[in-house]
Amino acid sequence: MARPICLVGIGKIAVDQHVPSIAASADWDLAATVSRSGTVDGVPAYTDFDRMLNERGDIAVVSLCLPPVPRYDYAARAIAAGRHVMLEKPPGATLAEVDALGAMAKAAGVTLYTTWHSRMAEGVAPAKAWLADKVVKAAHISWKEDVRRWHPGQDWVFEPGGMGVFDPGSNALSIMTEILPMPVHLRTAELFFPANRQTPIAAHLAWTGGVTGDFDWRQEGPQSWDISVETTAGRLDLHDGGARLVIDGQEVIAGPGAEYPALYARMADLVATGQSQVDVSPMLHVADALTIGRRTEVEAFHF
Ligand code: NAP
Repeated sequence: MARPICLVGIGKIAVDQHVPSIAASADWDLAATVSRSGTVDGVPAYTDFDRMLNERGDIAVVSLCLPPVPRYDYAARAIAAGRHVMLEKPPGATLAEVDALGAMAKAAGVTLYTTWHSRMAEGVAPAKAWLADKVVKAAHISWKEDVRRWHPGQDWVFEPGGMGVFDPGSNALSIMTEILPMPVHLRTAELFFPANRQTPIAAHLAWTGGVTGDFDWRQEGPQSWDISVETTAGRLDLHDGGARLVIDGQEVIAGPGAEYPALYARMADLVATGQSQVDVSPMLHVADALTIGRRTEVEAFHF
């Protein structure tokens, strides 16, 4: 039977992915929304989160699609009210607040799921399996997209806690931390901050193990969400954010990119089995980059 779920923060990703994924799922029934301005046709809409929590005892699960900075307060209130919580990526503005939420969820006996949608791209699990017994010689991330196209007018991405180019970059890092067969840590980071902004618009990172990454939000024309891995026994390429897997030049998988339906299926499983899944490893690398990064000022950015 479908479980009632409440979607909080009816913005770009809620409309693009969460609403259609819930609508297409037999596991879930979108029973309420909470947003200061957004609504979904035919679904009871609240503007006050606490009111929804008080009035809707029938809703045991809350999915938070807010930007990372406001998300913690909502998650903490939901857990305190005995609700299971699903978090958009990145799961918080700081590592410690996500740890705190994990402890709260455990104490309350509810599910907390820190989603990383890119890990659900169709090529990622087979890439991990292929790499499991390989020796990596080098790897490279090329994550270059147009911020005006994917975050139109969203100034929060350039505010403290918005993470700048690491907002999409954390998708690449979620794949990297999933598929590499060895741990890596950051050695150097070059961060490019627009003169009028608080977060980087581009970054070049270099880890141990010959792993490097270029992240750029100023990309016009073709966008790239690619990861290549050279091993002693062949080469692996992930394209299209992980949906397409190529091994030694042969296309192995070309998925449709059905990441969000897979996240909601996983959440249904976690709730049904009384488990949580809390993983901040992609965020560790963002925090490390912002800790050791050399900062260069670049041209001011305006949407
Ligand atoms: P968004 O459209 O700017 O914001 C989502 C919603 O959050 C808005 O509807 C807004 O609702 C609410 N909100 C914003 N600031 C708030 C605040 N201070 N307090 C309470 N509510 C607030 O952002 P988005 O692009 O959907 O991104 C949200 C999350 O999804 C981010 O973590 C992002 O990394 C992730 N994500 C985004 C994309 C993408 O393509 N954009 C893709 C994958 C994942 P109201 O103003 O109506 O209350």
